[in-house]
Amino acid sequence: MLKPLLCFLFIGNLSAQELFSEDFIGQVTVLRDKALTDTTAYDITESLTTEVGARLGGSEGDARAVKWAVAKFNELGFDKVWTEPVTFPKWVRGKETAEIISPFPHEIKITALGGSLSTPKKGLKGEIVHFETIKDLELADPSLVKGKITFISNRMQRHKSGKGYGLANGARYMAAKHTADKGGIGAIIRSIGTDSNRDPHTGGMKSVNYDQQTNITTLLKKGEIVPAGAISNPDADLLVNVLNRGKPVIFKYTLGSYWDGEYTSQNVIGEITGSEKPDELIIIGGHLDSWDLGTGAIDDASGCAITMAAAKLIMDSSITPKRTIRVVLWANEENGLYGARAYAKAHKNEMHNHIIGAEADFGAAPVYAFASRVSQQSLPVISKMSELMAPLAIGYVGNKGNSGADISPLKKLGMATLGLYQDGSKYFDLHHTPDDTMDKVIQEEISQVTASWIVFVALAAQYAGNFGFNLNQ
Ligand SMILES: [Zn+2]
Repeated sequence: MLKPLLCFLFIGNLSAQELFSEDFIGQVTVLRDKALTDTTAYDITESLTTEVGARLGGSEGDARAVKWAVAKFNELGFDKVWTEPVTFPKWVRGKETAEIISPFPHEIKITALGGSLSTPKKGLKGEIVHFETIKDLELADPSLVKGKITFISNRMQRHKSGKGYGLANGARYMAAKHTADKGGIGAIIRSIGTDSNRDPHTGGMKSVNYDQQTNITTLLKKGEIVPAGAISNPDADLLVNVLNRGKPVIFKYTLGSYWDGEYTSQNVIGEITGSEKPDELIIIGGHLDSWDLGTGAIDDASGCAITMAAAKLIMDSSITPKRTIRVVLWANEENGLYGARAYAKAHKNEMHNHIIGAEADFGAAPVYAFASRVSQQSLPVISKMSELMAPLAIGYVGNKGNSGADISPLKKLGMATLGLYQDGSKYFDLHHTPDDTMDKVIQEEISQVTASWIVFVALAAQYAGNFGFNLNQ
């Protein structure tokens, strides 16, 4: 019993100082503080939202975004810049209209969920059957649903961590599938969002069957899913009020969305080559695609910009990173995580070189906490990060954390991860709506986020050990 305890004390007390030289920690501290007033991340976000804007996977905006990203990495002076192909089924949004026909007529704003099939051209008309949660629909007797349009009215709750999203978005993901399974004709959900604007939130739903083994995607067809759309919080309240009158409610909507063959986009990658261990990689980035309704400022131009800026500021500083910093701007995260899966497939034999990874995909608001998923032996490095993050008002919340959707396939392959948690209180007011625009990004806030990423990336690239592999497996 004595030996492990001594060992623990040794790690806890001595090696934190021995891990990094005082000079190095001084350099990181200076750069962290400089980053707080640096505008690189803000400027990159402004550039992507202005020069490209909406960039749904497979759209013209997607192609422009790839060109933009290659040019931006080069302009910033990254050592290596390249693209890797990502092929996926292309989904196109069409005309969108909705109305309550009776007992009280109202026009309603609707938006198709990503992957939805179209309604008949003249629209889809039917009686609404109301469920408060997706679980209620899942458990419902099919006779209640047959021939009807389902409506799920659960409301997402606001929380700093954004935990309300995970609790609510099963409705968006599964409503069309469960409705089809029970013989329903259409599905409407309350938007997964916390605002009270009359613009609905789009977002992905289950529209494909994906085989992990073969990487083959099969589109769900009519009868396996139904045309599905979201309506805003105020319109969902209105529909609930109409339903509360106890009379049959007839709803009609038109969605013109459809699948249009295959498209090949690109993951865009920029690297700063490590001085001593060029083959060992610190993987960071955000997703390059966005939904089509806004200009994708918070989701996820900000994440691309924060990670590009963190790498750029380290490169331009007196720090010489020993490991390579690889920034990956992932393709088509929103409509199926295709870029992340393509990367994991292409690099699965190089996972021993993927030392640690994290994604920025939670807007531009300040980081207030961070979590790791690393070996016990490497916790002193995390403790040093924590020391350097404290002046940014960031606390460490433990060795069990999330690290972003695009990182999840690499995590499954064994890579150690880190999560920098941003304040999500307002994120879901804007998420996947036309209001996701540049004016919501506050320069001082995005600079604080960049400063925190600099601490993480600089220490991870310098640390002589690794962070463990196949953790918790
Ligand atoms: Zn995102």
